[in-house]
Amino acid sequence: MSINLSFLNGTIFYAYQVCPREAWFYYHRLNPSQEHEFLALGRLVHEGSYSRARKEIMVDNLLKIDLFRDELVAEVKKSSRHKEAARLQLAYYLYYLKNEKGLELPGILLFPKERKTERVELTPELEQKLEKLISEMLPVLESEFPPPPVKSRYCRTCSFQEVCWS
Ligand code: SF4
Repeated sequence: MSINLSFLNGTIFYAYQVCPREAWFYYHRLNPSQEHEFLALGRLVHEGSYSRARKEIMVDNLLKIDLFRDELVAEVKKSSRHKEAARLQLAYYLYYLKNEKGLELPGILLFPKERKTERVELTPELEQKLEKLISEMLPVLESEFPPPPVKSRYCRTCSFQEVCWS
């Protein structure tokens, strides 16, 4: 299956799994303040963890790979609260590297604050799931208007909460 991935960066892909409206904001380049406390916390986790490893490799200006560790593509998250979204985001990175760069690599999720890790392999089933997801995302993201806000636990920590709920 041939899919145009040039519209889909890692931030948008991850956000879509948590809230399609947030992803729409990112897709349309409406970025929250860089000073939002949860973004700052995320940056701190990134800066304070694995400082000796090779960090943050940009691929085609779309994927920001946190680091390579022991030949694994690693994604660092500040908590495992949205583990499924993180797993899909990392799977998307592996999918992109395979299909756009010819690199078949396994991945690992790192939750340094919780001292947890999880391996992610790009199985045929996971590839199929990604392709279905990507084809569903495109019309939502390209729509003229964002999806309506849906209250969730994530809103409390979302940097767009003032836009949605004030
Ligand atoms: S505040 Fe809630 S509804 Fe609005 S973008 Fe964030 S998560 Fe989505």
